[in-house]
Amino acid sequence: MKEQLYSIRMHASASSEHVSGAESLVGVGSLDVTAANLVRRALQHPRGPADQVRVSIDLIEPASLTYGSLPALRTLEADSVADARQAAAVLLEQGGVTRTAAVAAIQWLADGAAPGGVSMRGAMLIDSQSGQRLEPDPARGVRVSRIGLTDELAEQLTEQLAPLGLDNAHVREALVLAGKVARHPDVMAELCWSDDPDYTAGYLCSRRLGYLRFPKLKPPGETRGGRAFFLRTGCHREALITWLESSPLLFNQAGECYPPVSWRDYVTELGTGAD
Ligand code: AMP
Repeated sequence: MKEQLYSIRMHASASSEHVSGAESLVGVGSLDVTAANLVRRALQHPRGPADQVRVSIDLIEPASLTYGSLPALRTLEADSVADARQAAAVLLEQGGVTRTAAVAAIQWLADGAAPGGVSMRGAMLIDSQSGQRLEPDPARGVRVSRIGLTDELAEQLTEQLAPLGLDNAHVREALVLAGKVARHPDVMAELCWSDDPDYTAGYLCSRRLGYLRFPKLKPPGETRGGRAFFLRTGCHREALITWLESSPLLFNQAGECYPPVSWRDYVTELGTGAD
């Protein structure tokens, strides 16, 4: 009989502010080691030591589990943070997001999208046409959950990412999260950069473009980061939130991993003008 899977989630905070969060889908035999690793991460996070760490574990109903392929990964080179953000805006427009919505999202991420100008615990939901914020709680946002990858795919991913110098927890976990978000037909694209002050990379992901990584999407030392999910106008927001937060998805197939390319060359390849 196949080992049953559990969803394991960690959320850490300090003085009621979000510090870090992470999660995985694992078999019962790996639960204790995974829980210990998540607690260690929460206590050693560069955003500061947590004063509250919560770990929750839930059994996954086997009938509710779906499987999928990770998105293709490509690193896009840019000259500066401003240039990378311009690239993100151009590529979001490629994905059907208006310039207004793209620029608004970049500004919210830069300013801190939660009330008080700090990072949210989850993602913003943004109407891809009007740029209006749609998440029910602007401090919490929407937290994508119940995601993971099989042990076989985890090994394969290491083989793919290591030669590119990208085999780290940031990239692996972001790829899995972005892979779930991009699968939903009501999500046009996602934009993310980390709230970890030591980690300057970010990405844009969509079904068509895959996972496009920018090594410098924010300045070093910056603790404001976040995620923006651009929604198809008029979509059923509550159904989407339920799916993102509760529907279990285990990735069991790899996507392609391409060598780095300049973002302007990539846009030209897509058949558009960069400016
Ligand atoms: P990280 O990539 O962990 O540095 O997270 C960057 C930002 O993404 C956080 O500040 C949150 O706003 C958001 N975020 C983190 N985890 C999730 C998640 N599971 N679902 C949605 N948004 C998230």
